[in-house]
Amino acid sequence: MFKRIKKLDEKITNKIAAGEVIERPASVVKELVENSIDADAKAITIEIKNAGKTYIRITDDGIGIYRDDIELAFERHATSKISSDRDIYNLNSLGFRGEALASIASVSNVEIITKTKDDEFGIRAEFRNGKIVYKNEVGCPVGTTIIIKDLFYNTPVRYKFLKSDATETNYISILVNKLALSHPEISFRYIINNKNIFTTPGNKDIYSAILSIYDKEIAKNLIEIYNKKDDVKLRGYISNINYSRGNRQMQSIFVNGRYIKSKIITKAIDEAYKTLLPLNKYPACFLYLDINPNMIDVNIHPAKTEIRFHNEEFIKNFISNTIKEKLLNTNLIPTIKMEK
Ligand code: ADP
Ligand code: MG
Repeated sequence: MFKRIKKLDEKITNKIAAGEVIERPASVVKELVENSIDADAKAITIEIKNAGKTYIRITDDGIGIYRDDIELAFERHATSKISSDRDIYNLNSLGFRGEALASIASVSNVEIITKTKDDEFGIRAEFRNGKIVYKNEVGCPVGTTIIIKDLFYNTPVRYKFLKSDATETNYISILVNKLALSHPEISFRYIINNKNIFTTPGNKDIYSAILSIYDKEIAKNLIEIYNKKDDVKLRGYISNINYSRGNRQMQSIFVNGRYIKSKIITKAIDEAYKTLLPLNKYPACFLYLDINPNMIDVNIHPAKTEIRFHNEEFIKNFISNTIKEKLLNTNLIPTIKMEK
């Protein structure tokens, strides 16, 4: 799907939920990686230095941007992903507001190198304060590299609100883990301060993606689940009752390839494990839901992670019952652990 970038008209922009804000380095990483996914990349490299505060580089082998569209890509409400308001309700891209590049470029220094398969040469461009200051031809492979330097250099108040490097790095890592898991058919490489953190194989296999991101302890306690009912398909991995965590960090939910948060699904998980885990202990769940896009509403939150199902009760019961049944059919006798 290769479409040119166009400015959305006001009729559409008024219908799109309020503008997203670049709050922290993790927001930048999210927007740029989602653009790479939307560009049909098969391999994406995410590299950060100093918690992304001074340096973020995202490289993909996606479709690239036409040389004549580069300036437009960095304008507000310019997108190649939707063209009519109907498209908002039948979305199959992660982005559609056409705001991210404009927002990022207004609070950082941006360098972009990009080439489409139709262009003989690539283009390297630089943006300062949201305006293009350099543009020239370069030799480069098909795809896009974006480098974000000195985030919030011109908005000291936002810079001051950033947390420590450790915390900001952790936000990015949690996000990159989820993005990598959301697309097991894409190979993700994650590099922090020149150190390789992980590379997922990009072979479609969810389990091998989990294994390359997390430790072996969790991988060996996972059970595969699968179920299908009406227009809804559920697959993924859940932990057996020998495994639990003090928080929900090992719970990831993906709907149509998009990482999401959903109170309904969290409830479904809790219900399924209710009598099986100690109080305040949570299982690991990697749930992949495929559902007809017109049965969900993704446009209720600008950060786009919270979604609403039209038939919440059905979804909750479907997920909860599928997990319960699987746990019942799996050996439920806990291995005895010696408590200290
Ligand atoms: P949106 O993703 O909502 O369309 P963005 O501001 O994130 O808005 O991007 C604007 C446009 O720039 C996209 O619609 C797309 O056409 C183009 N673009 C951005 N990043 C990439 C990329 N990595 N590869 C190819 N095209 C891209
Ligand atoms: Mg985008």
